[in-house]
Amino acid sequence: MELKNSMKIVLNDILKGKRKVALGGHVRPDGDCVGSCMGLYLYLKDQYPAMSVDVYLEEIPEAYRIISGTDEVKTEAPADETYDLFICMDCGDLLRLGFSRPLFERAKATLCIDHHVSNDSFADDNYIVPDASSTSELVFHLLDTEKITREIAEALYMGIAHDTGVFQYSCTSPETMETAAVLMRKGIDASRIIDKTYYEKTYIQNQILGRALLESMLVMDKKCIVSVIRKKSMDFFQALPSDLEGIVSQLRQTKGVEVAIFLHELAPQKFKVSLRSKGEVDVSEIAKYYGGGGHVRAAGVTMEGSSYDVINNITARIAHQLNHEEEQEPES
Ligand code: AMP
Ligand code: MN
Ligand code: MN
Repeated sequence: MELKNSMKIVLNDILKGKRKVALGGHVRPDGDCVGSCMGLYLYLKDQYPAMSVDVYLEEIPEAYRIISGTDEVKTEAPADETYDLFICMDCGDLLRLGFSRPLFERAKATLCIDHHVSNDSFADDNYIVPDASSTSELVFHLLDTEKITREIAEALYMGIAHDTGVFQYSCTSPETMETAAVLMRKGIDASRIIDKTYYEKTYIQNQILGRALLESMLVMDKKCIVSVIRKKSMDFFQALPSDLEGIVSQLRQTKGVEVAIFLHELAPQKFKVSLRSKGEVDVSEIAKYYGGGGHVRAAGVTMEGSSYDVINNITARIAHQLNHEEEQEPES
């Protein structure tokens, strides 16, 4: 593919003369964010030994710590550091970069590698492919395949597996499977990575999932499923925000449902909203409308108001899309 080759040259060009490089990803890092950052981090450390490389991410969920180098991740940004280059990964906008944003803003040059359809190319150089399965797959295409070690392959494989729902979602292309095959041939234990980082849940995670499923409601003529986890439940189960990962995907599995809406109460009258669609509804459009972003079938946003306000606002946008679609359907 021409794009891969030209991008490989760009990565080399972008790194030319850079002595200090920082990598960063989005707040509440998920599998793809950690996989892409760690994959590129390990590669740069191997291939550019004279360059100093740091990776900045919020606290990484425990399960992802099987990936090499995660113990070297920095969770605080030094106030006085200026990097020659900041590489921002899996992050659709600057706000989502969180605590490392000042490092991005101070850096002499910036590069963004991402697959969010809502990304408006905010860095100096941008490698944004909304159709790509994951940022980890994009990182793979920037690297020299022969120089990918087993540790790098483990990181990238985890990222791809997570963002494709273990090679199930429609973003999984033949190229994604070919990338995964190359990574498997690096000697990784693919089953273990999937099991340990994706399927295995702690007792607390299963308990809170159970709670969310039990209290879910069907709305909009059973086209949407909604569930809310309040702060008091988080305290009761002693759950962390990262323990909620996967709940919205499970809600989406419900037969007959088009959209799953999951609310996590961050503070009184403030909710992190996760949206998942089976395809009829573009949830990135809805998230973007309220200041968030994401992909057509998986998006997120933080919203204020009561849970009823939030649900009403979101379902109104869903209805708007569904009705609009009906209007556009040719008469039979
Ligand atoms: P989540 O529901 O948090 O798993 O997020 C689904 C997708 O939407 C991911 O690709 C996120 O990167 C993106 N996303 C989530 N929250 C936001 C937000 N507040 N702003 C922009 N993108 C978001
Ligand atoms: Mn992500
Ligand atoms: Mn991603």
